Amino acid sequence: MKEITCKLLVIGAGPGGYVCAIRAGQLGVDTVIVEMAKPGGTCLNIGCIPSKAIIHAADDFAKTVAMAAGKNAMGIKADNPAIDLAKTMAWKDGITGRLTLGVAGLLKKAGVKIVVGRAKFRDGKTVAVETETGEQVIRAENIVIATGSAPVELPMLPFGGKVVSSTGALSLTEVPARLAVVGAGYIGLELGLAFAKLGSKVTIVEALDRILPLYDTQLTQPVAKRLAALGVEVLLGTKVKGLSSNGEALLAETGSGEERRIAADKILVTVGRKPVTEGWGREELELDMDGRFLRIDEQCRTSMRGIYAVGDVTGEPMLAHRAMVQGEMVAEIVSGKRRSWDKRAIPAVCFTDPEIVSVGLSPDEAKAAGREIKIGQFPFSTNGRAMTLSAEEGFVRVVARADNHLVLGIQGVGVGISELSAAFSLAIEMGARLEDIAGTIHAHPTQSEAFAEATLKALGHALHI
Ligand code: FAD
Ligand code: NAD
Repeated sequence: MKEITCKLLVIGAGPGGYVCAIRAGQLGVDTVIVEMAKPGGTCLNIGCIPSKAIIHAADDFAKTVAMAAGKNAMGIKADNPAIDLAKTMAWKDGITGRLTLGVAGLLKKAGVKIVVGRAKFRDGKTVAVETETGEQVIRAENIVIATGSAPVELPMLPFGGKVVSSTGALSLTEVPARLAVVGAGYIGLELGLAFAKLGSKVTIVEALDRILPLYDTQLTQPVAKRLAALGVEVLLGTKVKGLSSNGEALLAETGSGEERRIAADKILVTVGRKPVTEGWGREELELDMDGRFLRIDEQCRTSMRGIYAVGDVTGEPMLAHRAMVQGEMVAEIVSGKRRSWDKRAIPAVCFTDPEIVSVGLSPDEAKAAGREIKIGQFPFSTNGRAMTLSAEEGFVRVVARADNHLVLGIQGVGVGISELSAAFSLAIEMGARLEDIAGTIHAHPTQSEAFAEATLKALGHALHI
């Protein structure tokens, strides 16, 4: 097979890699991307998109079940709801299929050459790809490592049989009657809640003494309440020991030393993800590490000239939108533009019920950074739109500097609040002060009014509370 030469070679077509390649192509950079699975990476194929599809289906199903049980205050009735999970999964696969085809199309439209196969470095400028038709050698002036991340496996609960990762859970064709979830982080709670709504008896085992340790307890409290309402048992401060000898149950030990035997048809292990730093020839290079991640600077340069890294392989937060923004920046740098990481905040959204959003500093983080702050919080229970949506749980909270009212952070929890994350991020990125948000007309009736009211509250004159 002939050797290819190019200006930019991207390894991995997840959100970091494919965005980098598309932008480079648009800028006229001669670009090749190598992907060993499907374009779209974890996010489109086995992560963000399929999980949100299943969460949505579970929500709709749970609402119908509540209607059938006569628990619908709006007077809507339903009879004998049922779910055909195989059909739900087929619908989800249709969405991911359309998106991954779309990514391949966008890459082609940008003039990017796609090579399918596993890439391995030979040296800092050369990569060999095992393709179906043999080895393809690619020489590039610049190389971007965007190999992403993979689920962490627990030694006492290796994946296989009834022990599944998020990928396994997102391809189940029957709702497990009993589901044990190990880890009450992003995936454990998003999928744990979804399966509880689909009808599983869910037990969540978490090593720490709280759920979603990334967020403060005020934000996670409405989620804890919903878990309880759905009958999900949450065992905090609990260690998993492994499977029982007959394989029927998950064995765990609570903080008080009590042995627990959790009978389960499936065990979903979601204890974090690890960067993919092996399997692509790192040993042929001299790359500095930052703990388990590849070390990068504010331009995503690694310690080797001409080699960049973006996305989950470079560190926390392991989020698709961070990977995409890094990828776009690197493409522009390679094309000769002057760019560096100048973002003030990376929004985080947890698609639990209700959803949680956090952008910038929480009150505790602002105080720890030595800031004198003002906090404004407005509940959805007094927001008209939230009432019409039966979504009164939760609030929006704004954290600002006490002296000049510069907004440092915005958090919130509520049904559908993920859609407010754009307004929150924009406010911080634009350097908004409380008065800027309070002085912006927010359409009525919308949940976004709670954002304006939270800033008014911080200024001492909220109108609707
Ligand atoms: P990845 O998406 O992991 O892509 C890396 C790609 O590189 C893969 O396609 C892989 O096949 C390829 N690759 C690796 N090695 C090689 C090689 N040697 N040769 C060729 N190809 C190679 N993030 C959010 O922001 N919002 C969410 O709602 C969200 N939900 C999630 C839900 C789940 C269940 C999971 C698992 C993750 C979720 N994430 C979410 C995280 C998100 O998926 C990742 O942050 C994102 O995919 C990282 O993008 P990436 O480009 O760095 O890597
Ligand atoms: P996570 O880091 O969010 O949560 C892991 C949880 O497992 C933590 O609460 C941790 O204390 C617990 N844990 C660790 N070891 C344990 C053990 N032995 N026993 C019991 N509990 C244990 O990890 P995740 O849920 O696997 O998700 C991985 C990453 O994927 C996230 O950190 C995030 O970057 C990304 N993600 C993002 C979204 C989103 O943006 N909405 C959704 C899903 C995943």
